[in-house]
Amino acid sequence: IEEDLRQAQKMEAVGQLTGGLAHDFNNLLTVISGNLEMIEDKLPPGPLRDILREAQDAAADGAKLTGQLLAFGRRHPLSPKQADLGQLVTGFSDLLRRTLGENIKLSTVLSGSDFNVLVDSSQLQNAILNIALNARDAMPRGGSLTTEITRAHLDADYAKMYPEVRSGNFVLIAMTDTGDGMTADVKKRAIEPFFTTKEVGSGTGLGLSMVYGFVKQSGGHLQIYSEVGRGTTIRIYLPAISGARPDAGSQDRGTVESAL
Ligand code: ADP
Repeated sequence: IEEDLRQAQKMEAVGQLTGGLAHDFNNLLTVISGNLEMIEDKLPPGPLRDILREAQDAAADGAKLTGQLLAFGRRHPLSPKQADLGQLVTGFSDLLRRTLGENIKLSTVLSGSDFNVLVDSSQLQNAILNIALNARDAMPRGGSLTTEITRAHLDADYAKMYPEVRSGNFVLIAMTDTGDGMTADVKKRAIEPFFTTKEVGSGTGLGLSMVYGFVKQSGGHLQIYSEVGRGTTIRIYLPAISGARPDAGSQDRGTVESAL
């Protein structure tokens, strides 16, 4: 538990640092882009203009990067909406199929019904994509990735084991790959920001920590099961909301927006 706490503090510190830096840098980039645009307007067509265009493209790339860092630093809040997780995840399957390629078998299983949650769907898509990319990397010789969606109840006993979890009804997304798996040590560190076992250039070590941040911010809970040589299951529990509630969110919003 103490370890969990230290981990959360560390993530918060890195998140704040990254978010703050990205935010300031983004402001600088805006000034650079704005000024380049002003110069472009005054310049006749020619080689100087091409050079300027290159500088503008570089500034645009920089803005894209800081955008990603901002998402990691969670400076911009989630915009959660009521949605059916079964429908959302099924809707991502084309994207996942394209991402995973041909030698990984993809399946989605919905067990039961009423998968309503309050969630930011683009962040959810990002999280699922990150998990799928990790699964792909863990299955270089192919395999399968199964996504299961069910309702789950976490009881008070469970919540006692994990002090940050509140008991109640959840919708569970479990993504299981048949890949290389993680050693106990890697599993313990997997959600640490910048922890990666991949080569420089192929891993940033931010994937799972972003997933973790998103899940926490959504009032949910993340679990990792993994065994070397057998595969990995990532479980995401998101708080369930009961079917029809016209003004969904007003009371859950507090949990959703409270930072990681
Ligand atoms: P990255 O993928 O950039 O390395 P992540 O934070 O997503 O960053 O993952 C951290 C590490 O956790 C990975 O480098 C890998 O060692 C391990 N890992 C994550 N997902 C899996 C998986 N499905 N199977 C095996 N190892 C995994």
